[in-house]
Formats: sequence, structure tokens, C-alpha cells
Amino acid sequence: MGIIIVGAGECGARAALSLRENGYRHVITLIGDEVHLPYERPPLSKQILLDATEPKLPAILSDIVLAEHAIRHIGGASADAIDTSGKHLLLSDGRALPYDKLLLATGAAPRRLPNAPVSSRIVYLRTIDDALALRSLVRANMHVAVLGGGFIGLEVAASARGRGARVTVIESQERILKRGVPEPIAETITALHQGNGVVVKCGVAVLGLEADEQRVDISLSDGDAISADVLVVGIGAQPRTELAARAGIAIDNGIAANERLETSERDIYAAGDCCSFPHPLYGGRRLRLEAWRNAQDQGILAAANLTGAARSYQTVPYFWSDQFDHTLQIVGLADEGRTVVRRDLGDGAFILFHLDDQQRLVAASGVGPGNKVAKDIKLSELLIAGRITPSTEALAGNANLKSLLPRAA
Ligand code: FAD
Ligand code: NAP
Repeated sequence: MGIIIVGAGECGARAALSLRENGYRHVITLIGDEVHLPYERPPLSKQILLDATEPKLPAILSDIVLAEHAIRHIGGASADAIDTSGKHLLLSDGRALPYDKLLLATGAAPRRLPNAPVSSRIVYLRTIDDALALRSLVRANMHVAVLGGGFIGLEVAASARGRGARVTVIESQERILKRGVPEPIAETITALHQGNGVVVKCGVAVLGLEADEQRVDISLSDGDAISADVLVVGIGAQPRTELAARAGIAIDNGIAANERLETSERDIYAAGDCCSFPHPLYGGRRLRLEAWRNAQDQGILAAANLTGAARSYQTVPYFWSDQFDHTLQIVGLADEGRTVVRRDLGDGAFILFHLDDQQRLVAASGVGPGNKVAKDIKLSELLIAGRITPSTEALAGNANLKSLLPRAA
């Protein structure tokens, strides 16, 4: 028996490691439908596309670490069904594995463009195989079109420009990064891309798409026609809920978990991109986060709860994105509240602090070259977690944010 983890991504891999670190002594089985060892996804749209040298798998767990921790990794195997009454997981190759407890860390998959022609020149980016295929297509001076001005689209646009390609980003909304990124930050990112030669077209829809194995022809609602060598589609991701849904587990914008990451089925937990959960910092609002650190932290918390703890997930949401020489970082949910801006960070870097109607800091979002905003974002995270109500003057001025934290007793 033992614990089975379905999904050998960031969350599943961290959970497996954490189970052993917590002293769990029974069998741990980590099942992934990708053939590779568990690996990091953030480099796929950045270093892997940019580096001139042949990329290596950015592995999270090596064979040696798996062996040292006695974690059984079954790669290239899909979990197809859960027999919840008999407590068995059924794999695509016919195996039935018994479990005491199960963690679903099945992640998310790219949203597909409906009715798109089939061509190796229309690509999605989620896996290392996708990244290597895209990398082999992109060359200097070729035209890369990117559909979707979200994180995949913008990071790929920056990397493709870094490889000397001509790049056009097509976004259907009136601005890029509409969801969860405040307008002033999106404006800075737009200017950054434009300053680096990327054409950013917002408020345009794709009316027609034709492709063969050499080119992709795109006609747009503003009358433009683009002939590209490659089209990268980054129009969002959908949680992989199919396994849970087939087992009758509750789904609500992802596999519905409670604050301890337990699903509606006894002894089955869910964590990472695939699950939604109520967040105590936001009045119990149900969130689903698609971010690296959340996947890692939820994997660690699920591992603790799988072995008897009963902890609630309360970590402040955080993510970053690297584009050209800039980093964008957001802590908290930057989609509400009054904002106060802090500009005195140098090199055009700035931070927006988001305050609720009780003056409580609920989010901070910043952008700038290198790590200009990193320290203030880190301190903001502590202020948000501590439910601090800072003064507008302290936030807007150049006060050290550390001084706003309560002193240790
Ligand atoms: P995943 O990493 O998706 O792993 C889930 C795994 O489960 C997958 O391998 C999947 O194939 C497998 N699986 C699913 N169903 C089954 C099944 N039934 N049987 C067996 N296996 C199954 N976040 C940031 O914060 N910053 C970044 O800069 C950043 N960059 C990113 C760049 C790219 C290109 C991508 C794709 C994502 C990026 N992210 C970034 C997001 C971050 O990588 C994800 O939030 C994180 O990988 C989620 O981890 P996860 O383990 O929940 O899911
Ligand atoms: P995303 O960030 O949700 O962005 C998708 C963008 O495409 C949105 O702006 C969306 O607008 C737009 N869009 C949707 N349908 C469209 C259409 N038909 N035509 C043109 N634009 C359209 O998702 P993503 O960039 O595809 O990323 C996929 C996953 O990878 C996510 O889980 C993301 O978190 C992860 N990722 C994260 C990072 C990071 O955090 N740094 C980096 C890369 C990838 P609407 O809002 O209107 O739908």
C-alpha cells in the first residue's frame, strides 16, 4: 500500500520528497504521463528557448535522489481511473495499484484553439518536448506570431526576439495581461516589448487561419494579414480534472479541495494547478492558482496533511515573470482595491500597493529591470500575511517596508 501521487510535475515531485523528509516510511509512488524525470517548467519559455547551447532537462529529482529517498517513479504512464471503494488506481497499461492515500497533482493543460488546422508550425507550450520542438523551429529573422498576450505569449515573444526572430503578439483584449496584472504594469511591459522590436496588437481577433508544414497565414479582425513561420498559441490553461471527475470527486474550477487540500473523497487530496481551494486571507474566496511557488508550497502542505497534520493552506499567492531584462512580480491578488504607487526604486522600476477599504495591504505588484522590486515585494508579502494596515505616506515614500512590520516580542 502506501501513498500514490498522480502527476510528476512541480507539485507532485515536491510532495514526494517532502513525505520522506517528514519521516514517512511506507511506499511512495509518483506517477507521471510524461516519460521524463520530474522537471521545472519556468525555464521552458525562457532559458531553454534562449540558450545557444543544447539544453539539459531542468530536472527537479534525479535518478539518484529518487533512489536515495526510495521514491518509485513511474514515467510514461497515465492514471486512467480511481476505484475509490477498493482504493486502487488504474493505469493505462492495465496495472491496478493499491493505495492508502492518494494525491492528485495533475496540473493544467493549454487551452486549444478551436478549429485550428493541424501543422507542426502551430505550437503550444507546456512540456519540455513542446519547448524543444519550438526551439528547433525558431531562427533569426523568421517571423514568429504569438496568439495571447498572457505569460506564455510574452515570455516566448521576449525569448524569440532574443534569438533574433521578428515577433508579433496578437491579443484579443484591449490590453495585454488583462487578468490579474494591473494596467500600469501591463503598460510598462508593452513598452518594454515595443522597445525591443516586438509588434503588440491588442483588441484584434483571429478571423482565419491556414497552415501547412512551412507557414501559418493569419487574418485578423483589423484587416491585417500575417504570414508567419511559426504560430505559438498561449491562450490560457485548463485544470486537468478528468481523472477526478471520472471518480465522482467534486469539481469547481479545478478539483475542489478544502483549506487542508482534502477533496470530497476520503483519503484523496489535490494540490497545485489542478485544484481550487478557499483562501482565508481573501475571506474564504475559492482560488485556483497557476504558479510555480503555489505548486511547490501546496505539494509540501499536502505531504504534511497526508501524514497526519491538519494544516490550512494560507500562503500569500506569489508569482514572477521574466521578460527581456525585466522581472514582474506579484504578491497577493492584484485585481482589487485602491492602489498607491512607489516609484523611487531607480531605472524606472515601480511598485503598486493594493489596499482594501480598511486600508489593509492585500497585494503588491512591481516591475523593473533585474531584481529592483524583489526586496519590497518580499517585505510586502510579510505585511500582507500579517494583515498590516500601513499608511499611504509610508508606502508611497521611501520608508523601509521592514519598519512597518510588527517588532518581534
Ligand atoms: P504540472 O507542472 O502541470 O504537472 C502535472 C503533471 O501531471 C504533468 O506532467 C501532467 O502531464 C501529469 N498528469 C496529468 N494527469 C495525469 C494522469 N492522469 N496520469 C499521469 N500523469 C498525469 N510560474 C511562475 O510562477 N513563474 C514562471 O516564470 C512560470 N513560468 C512558466 C513557464 C511555462 C512554459 C509554463 C508551462 C508554466 C510556467 N509557470 C510559471 C507555471 C508553473 O510552472 C506551474 O504553475 C507549475 O508547473 C504547476 O505545477 P503542477 O505540478 O501543479 O502541474
Ligand atoms: P494566461 O496567462 O491566462 O494568458 C492567456 C492570454 O491569452 C490572456 O490574455 C487571454 O485573454 C488571451 N486569450 C485567450 N483567448 C484568446 C484568443 N482566442 N485570441 C487571443 N488571445 C486570447 O495563459 P498563458 O499565457 O497561456 O499561460 C498558460 C499557463 O502557463 C498558465 O498556467 C500560466 O500561469 C503558465 N505560465 C506562467 C508563467 C509565469 O507565471 N511567469 C509563464 C509562462 C506560463 P482572456 O483573459 O480574455 O482569456
